[in-house]
Amino acid sequence: MLDNLRGIVQELGAASDLQAALGVAANRIRETLRVAACSVYRKDQDHPEFVLVAAAGLPPAAVGQLRLNEQHGLVSLIAERQTPLNLDDASRHPRFCELAASADTVYHAFLGAPLIQYRRALGVLVVQDTAARQFQPEEVDFLIAIAAQLASILDRLTSADVREPMQSGAGVQALRGLPGAGGMAIGIVTIPQSLIDLDDVPDRPAADPAAEQTALQAAIAAVDQELRVAGERLAPLLPPNEQALFETHRMLLDSASLLAETHSRIQQGSWAQGAWCESVLARARLLEQADDPYLASRATDIRDLGRRVLHHLRAGSNRPAGALSERCVLLAEEMSVAHLAAAGPEPLAAIVCLRGSALSHVSILARAMGIPAVMALGDRPIGGFEGCEIIVDGYQGRAFVNPTPALRSEYEQLIAADAKLSADLKALRDLPAETQDGYRLPLYAKAGLLSDIAAARDCGADGIGLYRTEFAFMLRDSFPSAEEQRGLYRQMLEVFAPRPVVIRTLDIGGDKSLPYFTINEKNPFLGWRGMRFTLDRPDIFLTQLRALAQANAGLHNLRILFPMITTVEEVDGALRLLDRAQSELEREGLPHARPEVGVMIEVPSAAMQAAQLAGRVDFLSVGTNDLTQYLLAVDRDNGQVAKLYDSLHPAMLKTIAHIIEGGRQTGRPVHLCGELSADPGAAVLLMGMGAASLSANATSVPRVKWAIRSFSRARAQELTRQALALDTAPQVHRLLNDALRDAGLKELVREP
Ligand code: PEP
Ligand code: MG
Repeated sequence: MLDNLRGIVQELGAASDLQAALGVAANRIRETLRVAACSVYRKDQDHPEFVLVAAAGLPPAAVGQLRLNEQHGLVSLIAERQTPLNLDDASRHPRFCELAASADTVYHAFLGAPLIQYRRALGVLVVQDTAARQFQPEEVDFLIAIAAQLASILDRLTSADVREPMQSGAGVQALRGLPGAGGMAIGIVTIPQSLIDLDDVPDRPAADPAAEQTALQAAIAAVDQELRVAGERLAPLLPPNEQALFETHRMLLDSASLLAETHSRIQQGSWAQGAWCESVLARARLLEQADDPYLASRATDIRDLGRRVLHHLRAGSNRPAGALSERCVLLAEEMSVAHLAAAGPEPLAAIVCLRGSALSHVSILARAMGIPAVMALGDRPIGGFEGCEIIVDGYQGRAFVNPTPALRSEYEQLIAADAKLSADLKALRDLPAETQDGYRLPLYAKAGLLSDIAAARDCGADGIGLYRTEFAFMLRDSFPSAEEQRGLYRQMLEVFAPRPVVIRTLDIGGDKSLPYFTINEKNPFLGWRGMRFTLDRPDIFLTQLRALAQANAGLHNLRILFPMITTVEEVDGALRLLDRAQSELEREGLPHARPEVGVMIEVPSAAMQAAQLAGRVDFLSVGTNDLTQYLLAVDRDNGQVAKLYDSLHPAMLKTIAHIIEGGRQTGRPVHLCGELSADPGAAVLLMGMGAASLSANATSVPRVKWAIRSFSRARAQELTRQALALDTAPQVHRLLNDALRDAGLKELVREP
């Protein structure tokens, strides 16, 4: 039973046709448990019913037709209670209902397990037998284990929500994920060249089979050459066994049967990329099924070779490598900041990722670039989407591939209304973020790339509240020199002088890694991050501190910010290095000016010691993104727990209030620089709490300004008092949304 379980789980994991996978699973379960029938029911999204979506042992015509009312029957009971049900004679249970589909057969034994994903019962898996018997514990365990796999398949089916048949790209596919960056866009799907995998390549007919054969041969020859060169280069450094590996790889690539299979697929009309991937994947699966560790590792080799050839094929295809078409929507399983930044803001309409969340740095960068993003669509094959039209709704976290004309025109209207709001708000550009009772709150923009500067300068912000230096470090092949850094920081300071610019020292680690400095950790968000890294590498830190102080010479508008502080000793250590940088510059006679210094409060320990930390520096700045992650123990980069990630959680509000009080006790201002301050309702609340300034991305600055200008400070303080008395995050959201509506700002309301 265990072997069968592993086999079924593997098949389900690799399945690309989800509907077919359910049918295969039903048959395999029926065979394994030797029962008369196995059926899979899915909860209907639009009606209070369960629909039979796969079956073995029941009349095939019942699939898709048989519907069970949500109020009656054993299936609904299992979903309701979310626990398995094991009955020796189902007909004696009070909730039993006779099914039309099984009218000819009388079933007695009944075992059902709920298909639960993220606490919701999406459906029910049932096995039935004609004889009356209790199912054995190992049979129950088997069914529960399979049910966990089927639940994730049902979830993918439910979120794919196929409204029309998806044939060769026709028909709309509505995909549900998480909001990453606000805004809506319509564009064409492009999968970044380096991110496409073997399973992502769509089926396509070959326009010219002979040309496809030639392209394949050229790609294989190129990989063969790469392997030969690598083998020769490393030969003097490797023992003979390892040297032989390169030869083994070349032999695998030269496998007559693999090539013959691919050629025959091309002959039958497939394009080379599709034919090659299909052959490689078939070979890899065969090796994996052998259940032999040696063969399994050959499967890894063959996949690796397959990818190398695929990249050559794609590079040689008509589409220029890396070129992004107009209105392009980047779609990938995971995307790095480098991918996004390298794409540049011009041709990019939106981004869509299968993983991540609104707090992943890719989303943060998308917001800074003013492009919508949808994250966490869940694992699914994406290759078939390349070149398709897509609507991206970053407010709702939804994407529609191949939209119907009606849906497209609905979105065109929504996009136009959104653009009108942004255009109307431009009128506020030169007005201050001043409340109706005359309190002026500094409102800053955030930046991460030099390309953000223009947007930040033109959005009507009072300066820069957070410039994340690590993004510039991430886009290079090596650590930037002191001179390069000085030039970069100087440019930022000059554009905004005399307005303040807050530049944060290097904050790598977590989901931000440098391509030229790998850190391998099991828990990177709890590892060598931010100040921990820079204190351990004073060479890197001193170079940055010197560059910052030099950039500030004669301008005096620089404030620097230390990230990821967890102890006072870290601040003392960082200040000692700043003093050292200053005295070195002094000694060398180089122009410089000591910047104001701040500490980021983004870890609970720092929040608890806000007053002690504030006493050592000029200001504090609350990083609500990380503070939420660490206070609520919710990974900011994990879509699975994204529903738990809420910066308006009452514990967060109490913590922010405590930090602001710490600042007040020591006479130091407490600024807000996390994403929370870009939310108009939250911005009003934070002002009411006593935040010294707020920072939002350039696109959100006008919206936050509108909100601040629509409230009095007294009303904001009253909201703060009310919010701090609430018990749950949804109550806080409701309070703020009602307040926005009452103030006539319904366009700014986003339901959570
Ligand atoms: C934060 O944690 O709130 C913050 C502003 O820093 P980052 O998002 O770059 O971690
Ligand atoms: Mg942070």
